[in-house]
Amino acid sequence: MKVILNNIGKKYESREEFTLRNINLEIEDKDFCVILGPSGCGKTTLLRMIAGLNSITEGDLIFGTKRVNKLASKDRDIAMVFQSYALYPHMTVYENMAFSLSMRKERKDIIQERVTETAKLLQIEDYLHCKPSDISGGQRQRVALGRAIVRKSKVFLMDEPLSNLDAKLREHMRVELVRIHKQLETTTIYVTHDQVEAMTMATKIVLMNDGKVQQVGKPYEFYNKPENMFVAKFIGSPTINMIKGKIINNKFTSDDGLINITPNEADIKALINYNNKDIYLGIRSERFISGKNAEHFESVVDIIEVLGKDKTLFVKLKSGKDLLITVPGHFNYEIGESHMFGLDSEALHFFDAETQQRIN
Ligand code: ATP
Repeated sequence: MKVILNNIGKKYESREEFTLRNINLEIEDKDFCVILGPSGCGKTTLLRMIAGLNSITEGDLIFGTKRVNKLASKDRDIAMVFQSYALYPHMTVYENMAFSLSMRKERKDIIQERVTETAKLLQIEDYLHCKPSDISGGQRQRVALGRAIVRKSKVFLMDEPLSNLDAKLREHMRVELVRIHKQLETTTIYVTHDQVEAMTMATKIVLMNDGKVQQVGKPYEFYNKPENMFVAKFIGSPTINMIKGKIINNKFTSDDGLINITPNEADIKALINYNNKDIYLGIRSERFISGKNAEHFESVVDIIEVLGKDKTLFVKLKSGKDLLITVPGHFNYEIGESHMFGLDSEALHFFDAETQQRIN
């Protein structure tokens, strides 16, 4: 089912200011939409409004073609999974999964069929007779998912459902969730502050900050064409490098004069009105050039983070400016050494220093 948010706003009674304002979104049928953003940006508030657990102060919330602002949560045909999945401890896995269907007075054979088929999908069919205390955290999280899936709702709402799991299990569950979504094709709205979850699972990402939507799009668009400096810095690890400077005679020169580079033709065209104005050049750590073609600036290696496949070099320019540079793990660098590096002119992001919006 399609979910549309038209100019949605939220003001909590105890607050002077609106927590969310002018939220406009179209979540298509079958989308896996991830609402991403730092702590406190309003993700949970938004999800709870969609769920019918928070009232909507202004705007329209539409499910399919129906305005549902005033519809009770239980009548919205949604299923929710939260971070704290609170299974009933005295019930077996089977009973936990069957509970909502029994409450709805579904026929026993239908309940059995649904629970069995869902348990199979989640690969927990061997644990149906166990109590939650007798299974692992990851298995419990799957039971919580199963509880939502058996209801065959039109929309899944998930709020940080993986954040209680350890790193390895989270990685595994990310893949599982994508697989389950592929099979069920249920419209899913998933809240997280974890950019890796967003990048790996979403068909659509909504990145929020401070109660406002910063960018909506496909994961690769966030990495390759961030619309503003907040998005550029939020997505990507190590964090994108930002270098303040100016365009003078079609050349970018950093404020300290140490980095000079001619952007490609398309970028020069986009920068036509920025002659001599303050701008930021953004470049991701893996888009520096090392070796004999590296001729844009000299720097000293300050710290080396060894990650196995790659190394992150923290380098310092003469001006004191720090940059993060990713190099292959087998390249040899020593702390204190001086090296020349270059910038790949096909990988430059330019931002207006005043508005912080993307230029190219
Ligand atoms: P987190 O990732 O930390 O859960 P979030 O992005 O989900 O954060 P929200 O929980 O939606 O953010 O909170 C957004 C803002 O609304 C915060 O400033 C928070 O303090 C405020 N807020 C949340 N719930 C209430 C409430 N019931 N009454 C008043 N203010 C609230």
